[in-house]
Amino acid sequence: TDRQFDVVIIGAGAAGLMCAAVAGARGRRVLVLDSANKVGKKILMSGGGRCNFTNMHSTPDNFICSNPHFAKSALSRYTPWDFIALVEKHGVPYHEKKLGQLFCDHSSKDIVRLLLDECEAVGVKVLTQSPASNITLGSPHRLQTPKFSVSCESLVIASGGYSIPTLGSTGFGFDFARSLDIPVLPTRAGLVPFTLEPRQLKNFQDFAGVSVDTVTTAQGTAFRENILFTHKGLSGPAILQASSYWQLGEAIEIDLFPDLDLAEHIQQMQQQRPKLELKNLLGEQLTKRVAQRWCDLWLENKPLDQLTANDIQRITSACQPWTVWPAGTEGYRTAEVTLGGVDTNALSSKTMEARNHPGLYFIGEVVDVTGHLGGHNFQWAWASGHAAGEYA
Ligand code: FAD
Repeated sequence: TDRQFDVVIIGAGAAGLMCAAVAGARGRRVLVLDSANKVGKKILMSGGGRCNFTNMHSTPDNFICSNPHFAKSALSRYTPWDFIALVEKHGVPYHEKKLGQLFCDHSSKDIVRLLLDECEAVGVKVLTQSPASNITLGSPHRLQTPKFSVSCESLVIASGGYSIPTLGSTGFGFDFARSLDIPVLPTRAGLVPFTLEPRQLKNFQDFAGVSVDTVTTAQGTAFRENILFTHKGLSGPAILQASSYWQLGEAIEIDLFPDLDLAEHIQQMQQQRPKLELKNLLGEQLTKRVAQRWCDLWLENKPLDQLTANDIQRITSACQPWTVWPAGTEGYRTAEVTLGGVDTNALSSKTMEARNHPGLYFIGEVVDVTGHLGGHNFQWAWASGHAAGEYA
């Protein structure tokens, strides 16, 4: 004999728990199944343990999706301010770090606690170490947990992406969608550091930990943030953002002088400080160490009054922008998100329900909607979870 629920949700992460609380509040009997030994592991490790749970300036432009309009409906019906109100209702202390990014003062645990409290208040049942198997769709849908079999009217897939395989991310939701002939757009690692060819890496071997303020551009999308040199290549917020727009074989452009026109600046300084050495001029912005390295590698260090038009051209093409051809990315092992996923054309933007499978929903990262760095991915998890929770 089956245990009966109205809604079964596979995945007790950000999207799944939000969906459960919203559906439960409508009086639905809700079961959440998670294969891991505890819920919300990604929330716990997010934001360096403080969970960047939303972004005050989040707009649809902060999301990447093959259909740029898809996310607008859900995002407009559950905004950052709705989640902030929930955080305040639970008395979770938080602060803005920068650029609208909101973090817990104490710990990500506060966010997991908040979600579990919301679920408990409306009678949601949450089971860990409980992968679902033998799923058959119908009315009702049927599936197995390790301990009992279940039937339900609505099934919600909230199993996340591939990132951080050590957390048990298997791509279950992508495989399940494919098994139903629901299209899944090609997946790849996003918000991930770049690796460099050994030949290029050796130029910066001793630079691990050095960061520089930049405008970094990939595929025409620009981010004003720091880059960070690593033992393997490049990271830092600007690089992570660019990685979501980058494809293998393409270059990224890193403007090392984001606030000025470098050629013009050098010409001005040639008048004002003719005896100043190039490395010292560049060092005012780049730090001495980086400027020295750029001179060693690509430029000749001379007093400004000896620089020719040709020299100035060479300097700008090494710095504004510095063009980098990444060898690859660090992959899902360190990626914050998975790009691509369940094709939004197969889903209702209002409810997240699969068009050809009544009573089946996809929410969160498993869907082809990926946020920028800075709290937008959780905002998508909350908004899509809320949208499905109102209908499932
Ligand atoms: P998840 O939170 O990944 O939840 C999926 C759940 O499904 C997991 O609990 C998993 O165990 C379970 N599951 C998987 N397969 C099965 C199965 N077969 N059966 C049952 N259960 C299953 N985003 C931000 O906005 N701000 C941040 O500060 C931030 N920091 C991050 C830091 C790191 C290191 C990483 C990796 C990501 C970070 N992200 C951040 C991204 C964010 O964590 C994700 O976008 C978000 O967690 C996605 O929510 P989700 O509910 O779709 O998936």
